[in-house]
Amino acid sequence: MLFRQLFDRDTWTYTYLIADTDSKEAVLVDPVLEQVERDLQLIGELGLTLKYCLETHVHADHITGTGKLKELTHCLGIVPEKAQVNCADRHIKDEEVLKVGNIDIKAIASPGHTDCHFAYLVNQNHLLTGDALFIRGCGRTDFQSGNAGDLYDTITERFFRLSDDTLVYPGHDYRGHMVSTIGEEKEFNPRISHKKRDEFIELMNNLNLPHPHKMMEAVPANQLCGKI
Ligand code: FE
Repeated sequence: MLFRQLFDRDTWTYTYLIADTDSKEAVLVDPVLEQVERDLQLIGELGLTLKYCLETHVHADHITGTGKLKELTHCLGIVPEKAQVNCADRHIKDEEVLKVGNIDIKAIASPGHTDCHFAYLVNQNHLLTGDALFIRGCGRTDFQSGNAGDLYDTITERFFRLSDDTLVYPGHDYRGHMVSTIGEEKEFNPRISHKKRDEFIELMNNLNLPHPHKMMEAVPANQLCGKI
């Protein structure tokens, strides 16, 4: 398996390029509009065929590159079931496995940051957590139908039941981290380690974060697959 982590400095967003080295089929998870050229150049250099763009959720902090990538390649855009993205080619269901060559990408419904957020488990050991779980942090729950109790249940009941050595690859990082493990986050994540559900809810409901500055344009654009 080819697995690449790509970063957008303006929005602190990670995009993941995953490909089967035999069939050369590839998927991009959470592509960023401003990085489409970079991503296509890399895909071309590696001789890959982009089959899918896969979203973890409807983002509020950046505009997806999916629409532009669909125009420039023959890829399909896939979003979580119930995500209000009418232009998507497909909606993926909880526990559904997307095949990319011989790679298995299992969808895991993970509400909390938004109500229809999905994480993706790649070949049973790379967990793309989107904005549900960050390295030593987690996604906010104060807009876009977010819910702190749901996020607690997602992280403790769906993610923390995976084996401790599962690699954690988040949708953003603000402090320079790139990868962690489930075992590490269980032990050292200051938002949720050793915290009860009501303590987590209290903490999340009092973060008082400013809204992302791209939110007013990003959410409606992402519901149109990134068309501005
Ligand atoms: Fe988000």
